[in-house]
Amino acid sequence: MAKKQFKTESKRILDLMINSIYTHREIFLRELISNASDALDKLAYRALTDDKVSVNRADLHITLTPDAEARTLIVRDNGIGMTKEELDTHLGTIAKSGSLQFKKEITEAQGVDESDLDIIGQFGVGFYSSFMVSDKVVVRSRACGSDEAWQWESSGTDGYTITPCEKEVFGTEITMYIKPDTGEDDFSQYLSQETLEDLVKKYSDYVHFPIEMEKELTREKPKPEDAGDDYKPEHETYREWVTLNSMVPLWYRPKDEVKEEEYADFYKEKYGDFEDPLAVIHIAAEGNVEYRALIFIPARQPYDFQSREFEKGLQLYSSGVMVMDRCAELVPNHFRFLRGVVDSPDLSLNISREMLQQTRQLQIISKNIEKKVKAELVRIQKEEPEHYKSFWNAFGLSLKLGTLADYGAHKDLLKDLLLFWSSHSDAQTTLADYVSRMPEDQKYIYFASGESPAKIAKLPQVERIADKGYEVLYLSDEPDEFLMQTLREYDGKTLKSVSDEDALPESEEEKQAAEEKTEENKDVLAFVKETLGDRIQEARISKVLKSGAVCLSLAGSLSIEMAKYFIKMNPESADQLRADQILELNPDSEAFAALRSAMDTDKERAKTYVELLYQQALLIAGLPLEDPVAYAALVCSLMK
Ligand code: ADP
Repeated sequence: MAKKQFKTESKRILDLMINSIYTHREIFLRELISNASDALDKLAYRALTDDKVSVNRADLHITLTPDAEARTLIVRDNGIGMTKEELDTHLGTIAKSGSLQFKKEITEAQGVDESDLDIIGQFGVGFYSSFMVSDKVVVRSRACGSDEAWQWESSGTDGYTITPCEKEVFGTEITMYIKPDTGEDDFSQYLSQETLEDLVKKYSDYVHFPIEMEKELTREKPKPEDAGDDYKPEHETYREWVTLNSMVPLWYRPKDEVKEEEYADFYKEKYGDFEDPLAVIHIAAEGNVEYRALIFIPARQPYDFQSREFEKGLQLYSSGVMVMDRCAELVPNHFRFLRGVVDSPDLSLNISREMLQQTRQLQIISKNIEKKVKAELVRIQKEEPEHYKSFWNAFGLSLKLGTLADYGAHKDLLKDLLLFWSSHSDAQTTLADYVSRMPEDQKYIYFASGESPAKIAKLPQVERIADKGYEVLYLSDEPDEFLMQTLREYDGKTLKSVSDEDALPESEEEKQAAEEKTEENKDVLAFVKETLGDRIQEARISKVLKSGAVCLSLAGSLSIEMAKYFIKMNPESADQLRADQILELNPDSEAFAALRSAMDTDKERAKTYVELLYQQALLIAGLPLEDPVAYAALVCSLMK
């Protein structure tokens, strides 16, 4: 039988496992038990959905069989099992998200050093971790419903074989040939009943299937009837199957009895993260709908969060029995990053997917979870601002998009969670904090859009508002302006773009002064429009410019930033944008004065100035120059 080769990335992890000098090798048992428990869940689930499969839940279990003489440890389950193909693909490649992340990190690091190895225990490295303690691993498996069984065997990185074998019952049996002890390493401990029992208690106590081991116990022999006064009790050994774990799922235990690290371990193991969650919400709800839930807010984005493959959802259980692996109905899109478990005795086990969607109970639970998650996030925002910041970095965009989604249906829920850069400080602010800083006479909440907070801060329109002592929100994420349009107001205060002509309320005198300025400069404005022709819609005296000479705005309510976004989506809309452009001029600027005087003395030169001012306005707005080479030539011509 020819040896098959592992996939490259699998080989690398395997190599790490085999040569591991890592001290927490013991986690291998947790990994194998977790796989076995998944396999049992899958079989139970199959029985719910497939009439041909019948399973007695009480029969489902995991067994551990150490044999000190043979130096083998067998982990057995009567779960779903694997076909020949599954043995090949699942054990020949790395499947788990955590392992993939792990793979990524170690391949990015050059070589392998001890710090690499130190993170092994924090990742769910899965099946391959068995090689940390074994020279050889043999997996015998029979898939549910199949009459064939197959044996997968490997002694390490040089490959594996798959051959037919005999197996009476469905499920999987993993035999580890435990490594010999060395001066430093005591591998024999993994053959000892006591160690195995401790490890199960430590890592797998909550697994909701029994983990059984045949223990060798001693007991006192019954006292013979004819025993004399000098009888000394005799002992005998006997063997008995015992269940090692308490099988109480974490979510069934009283909140105040679960340690923080138990939550964290559970989370990391189950969801393949190597960082503790940001927060855990443990719910025991009674009343309308009875349910228990463990909801985790991750501290960082899962590696596939941005990809199409990412599926939102929580695991759904009914009285400790898994009904569905990812129940999407339990989490709204804006909280799609949530992980966790919901367990409700009120759900019938025989629910099909379609019916589930309609189950009113699920909707109630989902609404409930949404509320609790929001409350927890608000708490973190107030009490642990640093943590909230990192949460925001990971999932802020989801919250923004969630605010926009469904025509703003969720904005009241989400608006308090949003953060924005602002002119107030280098930190991001909530809308509530912004409002609390507003001076008495400030009417609006101001915002300005641009490429980055640093660039926005320099916009002339911002300067005008800032001069009044008003704070400005800096928007530089793509959905930001849509967000403003969706929110419209916060706490009764209208959200207002600094580019709006009426961003600052005008007095009658100011209005009049502006009209006079326009009247005074009519000839210049006409000259500018004539020179630029169809490239702009209008030239006007600016109300927003303070120190700069020019800027661009658009007719209608569209801002330049929004327009840029539309152009990115559809480059042809650039022409439309040009038709709406308004060139705003500052009549008090030196450039304006130069233009006016050139109009009297040298018309050609004046046209050059107009051209320059227009191109500069494009540059400031972050729009592409029509012809950069020609623009450069124009500037050079002035240096003569
Ligand atoms: P993970 O469990 O994170 O997916 P592993 O490397 O531990 O990664 O296992 C790879 C795959 O092999 C599993 O996803 C599962 O499909 C299969 N597998 C492992 N152990 C068992 C088992 N005891 N019974 C059935 N399938 C298993």
